[in-house]
Amino acid sequence: MIARQTSRATGEVADRVTTITTSSTAPAGTDQREAIAELIGVQRHYRMGDNVVRALDGIDLAILRGEYIAIMGRSGSGKSTLLNVLGCLDRPTAGTYLVGGEDVSRLDDSRLSEVRGKKIGFIFQSFNLIPQLTVLENLEVPLFYQGRVGPESRAKAQRLAERVGLQGRLDHRPLELSGGQQQRVAIARALMNDPLFLLADEATGNLDSKTEEEILRLLDELHRDGVTIVIVTHNPKVAERAQKVVWLKDGRIERVETNR
Ligand code: ADP
Ligand code: MG
Repeated sequence: MIARQTSRATGEVADRVTTITTSSTAPAGTDQREAIAELIGVQRHYRMGDNVVRALDGIDLAILRGEYIAIMGRSGSGKSTLLNVLGCLDRPTAGTYLVGGEDVSRLDDSRLSEVRGKKIGFIFQSFNLIPQLTVLENLEVPLFYQGRVGPESRAKAQRLAERVGLQGRLDHRPLELSGGQQQRVAIARALMNDPLFLLADEATGNLDSKTEEEILRLLDELHRDGVTIVIVTHNPKVAERAQKVVWLKDGRIERVETNR
């Protein structure tokens, strides 16, 4: 049993964490937390004329519930390709990708985007908010696409907005907010569907260092509350907040470092 603090805003996420019991069949000494996503021998090759670019070339990686993972590597090492596969934006050309136990490696585009919308919370470097919508409306967008907007979603959006420190800003539009506040909106939006994990693409790349620190602190808090986070970054300051740093090189995992 994994005990974690429950906060108001991430209650659903944290509640789920506390209901997981560990498997009794795992050998002693291994991390017995549930793998909420798992890449098994994943390849993503691109055919370029007569050549094959091996953007991912045999990735084995489990994302355990409650983990905070940073993915690092030099330019061209495969980070974006891995992010796209993890985020169900792309499919492996070989190997298996399991999300919440479901094999999504061979799903068609519409099924894949359904998994993406329901199970994964995205945070982008450029926030990707809709400028015409208020903060509250932006938060409801993920549920809107599932036809689930109503009083409940409004209450949830308010709760999450408060959780990320946006109280008093619910009726503002993105351009009336600072970069840090916009990223808070994006983080709250990513949590609206109670995703299995948050997937962040260089989430602080557009922020000054003080704001970056604030956003990293918010991610630390969410992680403490039980949210699983995977962040792709080339910034060591960001990676040092994670528990685990996965280093890519030439489409393979070069090494995995554990922090603290
Ligand atoms: P990173 O994000 O770490 O810089 P990428 O995942 O973008 O790395 O790219 C990994 C490798 O795959 C690079 O050699 C890149 O040129 C190649 N690559 C990425 N996307 C494509 C594509 N759509 N077509 C062909 N090659 C690609
Ligand atoms: Mg990239």
